[in-house]
Amino acid sequence: MGDETDSICPRCKEETIHRVVAMKEKKIYLVICTRCNSQHRYRPSLATITRKVPLPSERQAKVLKKVESARTFRPQVSLKEWQALKEVAGEMETLPYDPGASYSEKQAVAHPTFGLGFVGKVIDKSKIEVVFEYEIKILVMNRPKPGQE
Ligand SMILES: [Zn+2]
Repeated sequence: MGDETDSICPRCKEETIHRVVAMKEKKIYLVICTRCNSQHRYRPSLATITRKVPLPSERQAKVLKKVESARTFRPQVSLKEWQALKEVAGEMETLPYDPGASYSEKQAVAHPTFGLGFVGKVIDKSKIEVVFEYEIKILVMNRPKPGQE
């Protein structure tokens, strides 16, 4: 008559209910998985293991912080650049964004999703880098309309 215990089964690769087969020094030693019937050494359940996981080291914490700041860094750059471009653009007419149209640098563009943006850079004949309030996007321009030569 064996007791039942939660253990990690190497065959099922997850925590399953096991029957205790053998004890050693008052500790569970051998168990049988009630799901796949394989017998193996007792492995503490996940709950026991996670309790033993040490806190993230200082180095890991630093890396996490770096990742976090990288995430918030870009929009700030974008906003700063956006404000500067907005000043330069002044009273310039805002054109609706159209992939088939042509834009020059500093042109104010109204995008249906990203809002008001300014052409920060003309990359090539078909690509522009547009600075929006919260992000910088590479957009298409001069795209031939279907059926047009
Ligand atoms: Zn199993």
